Amino acid sequence: MTRRQKKTLWRIIIAAVLTAVAALLPVEGVWRALAFVAPYLVIGWDVLWSAARNIAHGQVFDEKFLMAVATLGAFAIREYPEAAAVMLFYQIGEWFQSVAVGRSRKSIAALMDIRPDFANVLRDDVEQQVDPEEVALGETIVVRPGERVPLDGVVLEGSGSVDTAALTGESLPADKTVGDTVLSGSINLTGLLKLRTSGVYAESTVARILELVENSAEKKARIEGVITRFARWYTPLVVASAALLAVVPPLLFHGAWSVWVERALIFLVVSCPCALVVSVPLSFFGGLGGASREGVLIKGANFMEVLAKVDTIVFDKTGTLTQGRFAVDAIHPAEISPEELLDIAAAAESYSSHPVAESVVRAHEGDIDKSRIGEVKELAGLGVEAVVDGRIFSVGNGKLMDRVGADWHECHLPGTVIHIAEGSRYMGHIVISDQLKPDAKEALQKLKALGVKKTVMLTGDAEKAAKAVAEALGVDEVHAGLLPAQKVEQVEALLDAGGCVAFVGDGINDAPVLSRADVGVAMGALGSDAAIESADIVLMDDKPSRLPLAIRLARRTMRIVHENIVFALAVKFGILILSAFGLTNMWWAVFGDVGVLILAILNAMRCMLRLRQS
Ligand code: ADP
Ligand code: MG
Repeated sequence: MTRRQKKTLWRIIIAAVLTAVAALLPVEGVWRALAFVAPYLVIGWDVLWSAARNIAHGQVFDEKFLMAVATLGAFAIREYPEAAAVMLFYQIGEWFQSVAVGRSRKSIAALMDIRPDFANVLRDDVEQQVDPEEVALGETIVVRPGERVPLDGVVLEGSGSVDTAALTGESLPADKTVGDTVLSGSINLTGLLKLRTSGVYAESTVARILELVENSAEKKARIEGVITRFARWYTPLVVASAALLAVVPPLLFHGAWSVWVERALIFLVVSCPCALVVSVPLSFFGGLGGASREGVLIKGANFMEVLAKVDTIVFDKTGTLTQGRFAVDAIHPAEISPEELLDIAAAAESYSSHPVAESVVRAHEGDIDKSRIGEVKELAGLGVEAVVDGRIFSVGNGKLMDRVGADWHECHLPGTVIHIAEGSRYMGHIVISDQLKPDAKEALQKLKALGVKKTVMLTGDAEKAAKAVAEALGVDEVHAGLLPAQKVEQVEALLDAGGCVAFVGDGINDAPVLSRADVGVAMGALGSDAAIESADIVLMDDKPSRLPLAIRLARRTMRIVHENIVFALAVKFGILILSAFGLTNMWWAVFGDVGVLILAILNAMRCMLRLRQS
């Protein structure tokens, strides 16, 4: 609790006691009024003061003004206990709201408490403690057990297990040893690690995540806009009705002033839309926080709204449903030796970051002399064209071979085939195979169980490899041999068919599709910048099974938002109607305002809870 909240709490307690005393005092008339003025002022002076100040600024329809008018009006018609109580409960509601909002802020801040405070950098063999922002690329940093890794880096010396839970939601620690990549924001649990930094702090995983989370609160859901607009006319409308209710019946029909003024005051108290204005953003805030705890970064409440409605999910294959780490199964040269073919392919691929390229380079034993390599052209969805030892090679799929006019042929083996040609002379092919992600099948099953209508796989790989993956996983539809632009066309067709489409990709070759779909979900947040940029949602640990979880979180958030809207409006309208007929008193109004606010906030806070496993 902040000091301010503590102070308000004390004022609430004192005012409550004073109100009880006033109610018990055996006094009448003016003395009774004065007895209630004491608690009223203790609890309400600041409300009266800021209402007066707001009027001076021409701002009349705010809640403080409403409360001031309603309670002063109650004094005027000699409803003293009610006047004090309305103000008391109003402050209780405000206090509750500020504690709840503060709490959820704090818990998200704690979740996001991944910002490293310092880095131990080794300079001239002396260890210095510096700000992570002062460490350059390629410097050596030391991370002791229990410390947070300040910058992304590669292990130079030492080994140990590292906890990445705050980054990826993955609760099992990962073992790291020499040569492994360690991400900033994770915690070194055992053993001393010496890392060589692979970038500066501003580009580190931690800095990127923090930036994302900070910006996500700004993107509002459509429904938040609706609520704001609704509040803008709801309050003046109810206040105007209150004015009519207070004046018209007494003047036209000789009603008693006190009766109609009381009904009007109830209107004023109920006209405050704060239950909605507070609980809807709070729900989204909690939902976004809950998702990031599960390793799902959602870049705004608007995307959460869409995710809850998604009925068509389109996946990329390589790196998304499969691991993107190919093993070389066979090398089939046309003329030269297998070693020579692999050497040419690896050299040509050595500048590409495509998973296919990285796998070929990995399979090549020994370093590749970069001076052998001339101009390199990466052809998205096809392969690469590179000058190696002064000769021009094309390395890629069958489509690329057709383009250069090489006389290529299919391979009888299953897997992805990389063909190599020099000019139009066919040199042979390398067969590589990928592995399914261990949770890919489970992810697709869970999506179906959640009622997702259609799952589709789009890939640039050849038909045979694509079909094998689709069958193993139970994907509804598969389209193979696509160039990046054709993937966009496929997604557009699904959008035209009226689907609410999510595209899930690894960000390599599919940034255009990510932004074209209703919601773009990127894997490989821990690797590719393109993905983090163009995606709306990032699955931090590259696990497709986070997607059904994210959908459930989004749906729960939307359900809670709708519950609060329906509940608050039903109670408020109900009380308004009953009050117009004189069937209520001030205590109903207090429930209609503060009671509803508190219940809505409690409900909204459920958005932060962890989901049950399913
Ligand atoms: P996916 O849709 O499965 O993610 P891409 O669109 O990235 O695949 O690539 C499609 C196909 O193009 C790959 O299966 C591969 O045959 C070929 N390809 C793309 N880039 C390269 C590369 N650097 N080297 C060799 N082949 C490549
Ligand atoms: Mg891909």
